[in-house]
Amino acid sequence: MESFFKRAARDLSEAKIVVALTGAGISVESGIPPFRGKGGIWEKFDPMEYAHIDAFMKNPGKVWAVLLKEMKEIVDQAQPNAAHLGLAKLEKLVKNITIITQNVDGLHQSAGSTDVIEFHGNFAWYHCLNCRRRYSCSQIDLATITPRCRCGGTLRPECIFFGELIPPDLLIRSRQVASQCDVMLVIGTSAVVQPAAWMPVIAKDAGATVIEINPESTPLTNETSDYFIQGEAGQIMQKIVAEIKRL
Ligand code: NAD
Ligand code: ZN
Repeated sequence: MESFFKRAARDLSEAKIVVALTGAGISVESGIPPFRGKGGIWEKFDPMEYAHIDAFMKNPGKVWAVLLKEMKEIVDQAQPNAAHLGLAKLEKLVKNITIITQNVDGLHQSAGSTDVIEFHGNFAWYHCLNCRRRYSCSQIDLATITPRCRCGGTLRPECIFFGELIPPDLLIRSRQVASQCDVMLVIGTSAVVQPAAWMPVIAKDAGATVIEINPESTPLTNETSDYFIQGEAGQIMQKIVAEIKRL
């Protein structure tokens, strides 16, 4: 039987439009812990206590001290891994690839991917809750928690907290590309955070082949995914890219 790597290579090279939906798992090999699963941040913290917008607005200092400071320090150090680089190579090998990422780490762009929808925002930009002045990540001084604007207001990252809406333009474009693609790669997401987890369902309904890459099965496995390539994203993406080059 044809290996999943060969099958994925063939499906991707025959596709006119490819979409990759990525989650925290694709950045695990870059040293950024995921939220759920083995070694996940939620083993240490309660999400509703630290990652909900109500928690942040009620006590920004607590959320900065416990979650945001550590996340920013890790994200600032992280480098793209073989999976991010593999997706960037895919852009050169197959036409038309859009990445919908739930990650806030900017690693797809660092790897060279050019069409990236940051579904949950990013840690690259911050703004003041008082005057809306924006700051880039290098301007944020973590020596003082909570980081403040020069007007004295509290700074927040431009990520989407639980309880906040996905910006409508991003949601509309994501749904559009999901419904138009021939192949959707679903990499390193536990597929439980909505509406991101809905994108593979939209793709499948519109006739796309859905390929899932994850060391663990998810609610999509054997339901929405046409096939499941079990394992770590870096090695799997390298193998798929090598197979495409051999075609
Ligand atoms: P998640 O934390 O819920 O799930 C992570 C998934 O990655 C799990 O299914 C796990 O089995 C899988 N995984 C672990 N190691 C992997 C590897 N080496 N290769 C491939 N897959 C691997 O992640 P989620 O579904 O993205 O949802 C959580 C939310 O957390 C997202 O909204 C995201 O914004 C946020 N988050 C982002 C980052 C980041 O920017 N890197 C990190 C943590 C959380
Ligand atoms: Zn301000």
